[in-house]
Amino acid sequence: MIDGLAHTLISTVRAAPATRDEIAIFVKIAATGGGSQGANLFQRRRVPEVLIAKGVITRAETLADLAREIGVRGDELTRTMLRFNEFTVMGLDPDFGRGQSAFNDCVGNPGHRPNAAIGPLDRPPYFATKIIPGDVGTCGGVITNEHAHVIDDNDQVIDGLYATGNITATVMGRTYLGAGGSIANIMVFVYVAARHAAGYEIPN
Ligand SMILES: Cc1cc2nc3c(=O)[nH]c(=O)nc-3n(C[C@H](O)[C@H](O)[C@H](O)COP(=O)(O)OP(=O)(O)OC[C@H]3O[C@@H](n4cnc5c(N)ncnc54)[C@H](O)[C@@H]3O)c2cc1C
Repeated sequence: MIDGLAHTLISTVRAAPATRDEIAIFVKIAATGGGSQGANLFQRRRVPEVLIAKGVITRAETLADLAREIGVRGDELTRTMLRFNEFTVMGLDPDFGRGQSAFNDCVGNPGHRPNAAIGPLDRPPYFATKIIPGDVGTCGGVITNEHAHVIDDNDQVIDGLYATGNITATVMGRTYLGAGGSIANIMVFVYVAARHAAGYEIPN
């Protein structure tokens, strides 16, 4: 993400609700050329030409050209990239904290050192695409018991109120274990809630 621009936007989003369009100008930059694979597994694949033709992905041979194409300041983009590349040598991302979690590590490039999730973006061509934030899951919400019954501040069930999904505190605690970790437990607890509400036995 582009320094300065991204910081401003992230601060704005944290401070006040924003619409998707307002925060849709986050831009992700990737480089795929040369021999460096960076830390991104997807760099081993070809970028589909159809996406470039449709304008979903922008490709350029220089950062200045890329900046012009996507409508950001070239000097700011270059400064951000150079700074980012310096941090990759240490395997750090002090701005956004990438590469610090086991999940980041898992979706990185196995064997890339010092950090599987952070590699330099230093070889043309460069690519950019627009990122629109969405929520994969939450790590907090109303508390439920083993029957998906919502419980109140005094640990008492609220009669007739059941919940599961992103509105609830997840069954995995304050973490997101990885892709596929949301819908399965939602389905299970919808089933449990429905049977409990109807007075049916809940199979183990
Ligand atoms: C890109 C992406 C990839 C994902 N991949 C996976 C995956 O591989 N595996 C996995 O398990 N999970 C995945 N997830 C997460 C999973 O999709 C969500 O955790 C799950 O859909 C949450 O279900 P939910 O019913 O709690 O909420 P939602 O699916 O968000 O449903 C909430 C519904 O309530 C509606 N609603 C909101 N407000 C109101 C209102 N006031 N009145 C009426 N209706 C309202 C919304 O329109 C929506 O239909 C992914 C999520 C994303 C964004």
